[in-house]
Amino acid sequence: MDRSYFDANASAPPLAEVVEAVRRAMQEDWANPTSTHREGQRARFRIEEARREIAASLRVAPGELVFCASATEALHLLLRGLQPALGERPAAVFPGEHSACLNPLRAWSRVSWLPELPADCATVVQMAANNETGILYAMPGGSGAVRVKDCAQAWGKVPVSLEDCDAAVFSGHKMGGPRGAGLLWMRSGLPWEAVMEGPQERRRRGGTEDLPAILGLAVAVRHLTERQAAQASLAVLRDQFETEITSWHRDIEVIGGGAPRLPNTSCLLFKGRNGEALHASLDLAGFAVSTGSACHSGSVKPSHAITTLGYSLEEARSVLRISMLPDAQPSEVEALLAAIKRLT
Ligand code: PLP
Repeated sequence: MDRSYFDANASAPPLAEVVEAVRRAMQEDWANPTSTHREGQRARFRIEEARREIAASLRVAPGELVFCASATEALHLLLRGLQPALGERPAAVFPGEHSACLNPLRAWSRVSWLPELPADCATVVQMAANNETGILYAMPGGSGAVRVKDCAQAWGKVPVSLEDCDAAVFSGHKMGGPRGAGLLWMRSGLPWEAVMEGPQERRRRGGTEDLPAILGLAVAVRHLTERQAAQASLAVLRDQFETEITSWHRDIEVIGGGAPRLPNTSCLLFKGRNGEALHASLDLAGFAVSTGSACHSGSVKPSHAITTLGYSLEEARSVLRISMLPDAQPSEVEALLAAIKRLT
């Protein structure tokens, strides 16, 4: 059966050029970059070349980038590493943050929720774009605080600026890069301690570097500008989809519809309907979409990203997220509309 994939915010397929770069690196550059022989030095050179290329794209110094395995890992390294120096003062955090960000904050003794901004706050944590709703957020003030930006969803979909923050995290598998490639950027001089000790990454992240993932990420970054252009043009298709779907029934609402959003994301509330059931029926019909819920150990927990916007738990259980890949076709979107219409 033909399948149509509308879950790009969960993971997007790696570009063909990325797959090729990873394959070649696995075959040719498998030596340990810490080794001092010629093979090791070659691997080291390739990593540093990739670091320079990615740093140039982000307009930061190469030495400020730490390669890691995921945005989740980058958030853990960052927030746990800031805690020993700053953790007695409060962290001010956006309540709709991803759990990858909220979990390491449990090590902090005081967390307050934005927009409340305590005068003595040590760090301000704000995602650039929300994974469920696609809503884009600006970095709040907080003078003297370390400003942390989670760019996992924004990267590759909209331009990302690091001028208004001091540290940021990125994920490879949502922007055409490989799984296993994450990135932590920290402005030099941050009061931070390594939590995963080892000589690699200038003692900031121990563990032999995943060279194929790093080289694959650099190739994906080379394609960022064209990917963002393709994403920008998705907004027309997404808006047409939403105009059509909301014209059917007053009980279908676009969450975050009036706000600036990622161009590929549509978060739909089907009042009185069960999002899980809709999701399962669409899956059977050949469409991969997502609910606004996270499934942990078999139990479905409604998304806090939706409830923090003022929606009830029941409403949060009635949400479907449609997130388009950059090459989404109008015919696929029409077929999805027809399938949803049959089910609602
Ligand atoms: N932050 C946000 C906003 C996300 O959407 C995600 C993943 O969905 C993450 C962090 C974690 O990214 P990764 O899968 O690279 O660990």
